Amino acid sequence: MMKIKIWTLILLFVSGSVFASPTDAFQETAAAKKVKQDDDKKKKKKKIVFLAGRPSHGYMSHEHYAGCMLLAKSIEDATDNIETVVYKHKWPGTDDAFKDVDAIVMYCDGGGRHPANKRLEQIDELAKKGVGIVCIHYGVEVPKGKPGDKFLEWIGGYFETHWSVNPHWTAEFKKLPKHEITRGVKPFTINDEWYYHMRFRKDMKGVTPILSAIPPKKTLSRPDGPHSGNPHVRKKAGQHQHVAWACEREDGGRGFGFTGGHFHWNWGNDDFRKLVMNAIVWTAKGEIPKNGLSDKSKTLDDLKANQDYKTPKNYKFGRVEKILKSNKKQSEEKSSAEKDK
Ligand SMILES: [Zn+2]
Repeated sequence: MMKIKIWTLILLFVSGSVFASPTDAFQETAAAKKVKQDDDKKKKKKKIVFLAGRPSHGYMSHEHYAGCMLLAKSIEDATDNIETVVYKHKWPGTDDAFKDVDAIVMYCDGGGRHPANKRLEQIDELAKKGVGIVCIHYGVEVPKGKPGDKFLEWIGGYFETHWSVNPHWTAEFKKLPKHEITRGVKPFTINDEWYYHMRFRKDMKGVTPILSAIPPKKTLSRPDGPHSGNPHVRKKAGQHQHVAWACEREDGGRGFGFTGGHFHWNWGNDDFRKLVMNAIVWTAKGEIPKNGLSDKSKTLDDLKANQDYKTPKNYKFGRVEKILKSNKKQSEEKSSAEKDK
């Protein structure tokens, strides 16, 4: 008898006829509404996918994965409506990775090894949907021909062999253009493997130079070769060269090319990092605050994180710390100079 009563109660409970009341039903609806609102909010979040290329040049150089992780975290720290996903060493095997994406960032080996070469159609589809495309350092180099032409469409420029060059030099960015990407960025000076004399769209149509500097003479001291020198670039010696640029496609999509990023520690420079963070979010059509995207300054430990290679024995971290300190000093001096104006 007791058994039957319990089972009856359970059945009544499950069917809702014992405890459910109009109030409960109302509460459920309200809860469901909240979930939906949260979902909608989530949907409105911008999504940025980082495609970090394979290990490349050894400890602290071309650290594609560590660089993507650092930038992704910095962007998430500096915003509240952006989610980032970093793919490590491999291109995602499924199109789902790019569902609802607002921008993709390719920081990877380039030339014949550029992962985009085999995926021109896939990326083109994204570009046509208005997805932002960002290429960093070696990721701006693809072979001349179809890949190069696509890069001109997507980001407005690329490293073309026997036209562009890849020397290491200290670039002095004395003046920055007024653009969302330069918001809050102070002029800065930094050594990197700044590729220059990029192949740009004809008459720079839709392309806005963001970082420009005059490369010193010694950047052309190497003999001619696919990356080292060529008669075209030699004719432009002593002139300003653009090493970062923004591009607006005719269909409204945005692109950004940035030739620095050889040394991982450069991500520890607040102005260098802020400019790239702003640019990534700009291509995703996100909002750039008046003072640009601001995150915490990076420590040596932040820079050591996620490296592809094991720390070499006796690695001279003192040098990296020195660079971080001099970055900070440079930035502080610029700030006080601005205040004095
Ligand atoms: Zn490099």
